[in-house]
Order: sequence, then structure tokens, then C-alpha cells
Amino acid sequence: MTAALHAESLYRFFRAGDEETLALRGVSLEVHPGQFVALVGPSGSGKSTLMSCLAGIDEPDGGTVRITDHRMSHQSEPVRAELRARRIGLLFQSANLIGHLSVRDNVRLAQRLARRRDRPDVPELLTSLGIAARSGAYPGQLSGGETARAGLAVALANRPAVLLADEPTGELDEGTEQHVLQLFSALAATGVAILVASHSPAVAAAADRIITITDGALT
Ligand code: ADP
Ligand code: MG
Repeated sequence: MTAALHAESLYRFFRAGDEETLALRGVSLEVHPGQFVALVGPSGSGKSTLMSCLAGIDEPDGGTVRITDHRMSHQSEPVRAELRARRIGLLFQSANLIGHLSVRDNVRLAQRLARRRDRPDVPELLTSLGIAARSGAYPGQLSGGETARAGLAVALANRPAVLLADEPTGELDEGTEQHVLQLFSALAATGVAILVASHSPAVAAAADRIITITDGALT
């Protein structure tokens, strides 16, 4: 079976003056449709750098990223942006919501940017995530749990093959975190490939598989 997400020998260096950090040293991984994988590792181990390279937000210095058999790495920014909009749902801790748009309009904007014809129905999507009652609310009016659900609605606006989430439950209480994790499991059951970077034991416990990163390398 083709992996939904495939990374091969990813390297990423950062230079700040004389200081050199090798944030990724040859990371390879695959996530298949329907898998919910947790990426765990201490702070500074390279989780966010890896997630950004996988999402095409950052460009690896070496190696390749493929999303559903389309090359993401070493492409122009417009090509990466289009691939990202159509095939990847992104959920990063700094929420992916625009403050002056309602929840509903945030989802609609994400759909417009992807220019796809087979858009999920917005009210249906919001209902499936348990946030329909807040569809007219603005991000600043939402609780932590509602923000997570609304962010997930934006991430799922274009029925992505891959969901990438970086510390998505970092600011949630335990009960709300469990709800979000149940949504991830339900989503994986529909065939979405999910990779969640987190140091929360609850995320690791909910995942089908755990990948550990230490000092920029998988262990
Ligand atoms: P994690 O998400 O696991 O906490 P990061 O991927 O954020 O780890 O960071 C991995 C390493 O790369 C750290 O040493 C960090 O300081 C460094 N790093 C990350 N981003 C940059 C950057 N833009 N410039 C310089 N160093 C960076
Ligand atoms: Mg991080």
C-alpha cells in the first residue's frame, strides 16, 4: 500500500552566527492511511522542525517528503502551498484560526484557498466535530476545547489525506484532551493518516504507533 506520508533521510541544519544545530539528522518515516501515529521526544529534539518539513512550511536541507505520492520537498512555494491546501490538514498549537472571521467563515476560507470542487459540507463538518452550535462565534469567544474543535474543522475543511498536528492538546485540560484524541481516532478510522507531535502521555496512549525522536534522529 502507498504511504499517505513518506519521508526519506531528512536533514535540517540551522546556523546562527558560529552556532550550528543539526535539528534533523536523517529522519525517515511512513504513515499509512488509517494510522494514528504519535511523534514523541523531549523539548528541542526536532519534533516541530520535522512537522514543518513534512507540511512543506519549511524546506529540508536534504531528503525528500512525499504526500500521497506527490513530492512536497524541493518544489516552489506555490506548488507546496497547493499540495498543502489540498492534501494536508494542519493543526499547530498557535491555532490556525483567523480572529476576525467566525468559525464557519474560517472553514469556508480554507476551502476557498484549496479551490476544490468536492468540498465537505460546512454545517455537516461542524456537527461531526461537535462545534455546530458555535459556528457563528469568533475565535476569541471560544473555550480551549472549542478552539481545538474549530481548529480541527479548519484542518479538515478539504478532506485531507494527512493530518499533521504539533502539540495540539498542549493547552487543554485532561477531559478536553481525551475528546480531541477520540476525534483523532475516529478520523483515522475513516482512512486519514495522522501524525501528532506531543510530549503528552495521553497522546502516546491513544496512538496506534509511537515514533521517538532524540537529538534529531529517530530511535
Ligand atoms: P521540538 O519541537 O522537539 O521542541 P524543535 O524542532 O523546535 O524541537 O527544535 C529542534 C532544534 O532545532 C533545537 O535545538 C532548536 O533550538 C533548533 N531550531 C529550531 N528552529 C530553529 C531556527 N529557526 N533557527 C535556529 N535553530 C532552530
Ligand atoms: Mg515543538
